Amino acid sequence: MSETPSPITLLFTGVPAAADRFIPGISTVALVRSAGRTILFDTGPYAYRPILQGRLKRLGIDPAAIDTVVLSHVHWDCAANADLFPNAQVLIHERELAYADAPQTHDARTQGYIGRVLRKLRLSPISGEQDIAEGLRLVELPGHTPGSMGLLVGRALLAGDAVTCAGDAVAGEIGYQPVDDPRARESLLRALTLADIIYPGHDRAFRIAPKIEYLEDYALRLRLFTDPAGADEEIQIGSFAAKSFASWP
Ligand SMILES: [Zn+2]
Repeated sequence: MSETPSPITLLFTGVPAAADRFIPGISTVALVRSAGRTILFDTGPYAYRPILQGRLKRLGIDPAAIDTVVLSHVHWDCAANADLFPNAQVLIHERELAYADAPQTHDARTQGYIGRVLRKLRLSPISGEQDIAEGLRLVELPGHTPGSMGLLVGRALLAGDAVTCAGDAVAGEIGYQPVDDPRARESLLRALTLADIIYPGHDRAFRIAPKIEYLEDYALRLRLFTDPAGADEEIQIGSFAAKSFASWP
């Protein structure tokens, strides 16, 4: 018997990384093909832009065929690039949109202009939880931001930054990207009750039971130019199949 293919295709797998020279912001972007819909969940930071276009092209998906973009929240590393999809309805929680219109000035993760940018798109503000198609349900997971939301795809949850990483799920606490809002921990714990598999905002997908474990291995390669006359330094994490350094077309 052949297995049904997953409706979720990861275009970017998030990484719970930190660096002393910059903020990596390596977030998850997923394509969901289910119930006749072609949905993009989150759109990543602007730096993803050419890679995102290339990966969709490799999958044979015209950006015009994306019918829905779900924005889990409006942080800089999750909600750029939504303008690439001319026919998409952009779903965003109404509380998140209200926040995008007037972010707090000390919030370094949210651009002050994001509300004005988003309002040029075909926005559909969401209030409450709702099914957007059979087996596809938007769920409210506030705390990381006022209107954070996730998308349940059957028994898998695209969690955005309500669950940033598997380590937070194991600890039951917000450790990576902590925020002041106590609802963040409540939403983390609730997210773990909603699904069998979690796709975190900045980590690999993991299953919850019988114990929290990643679904797949991970590999990452960093190249640095540290000596103008010497060889580049390259750091490899994980196991690698031989391929070119840059994996976008
Ligand atoms: Zn975030």
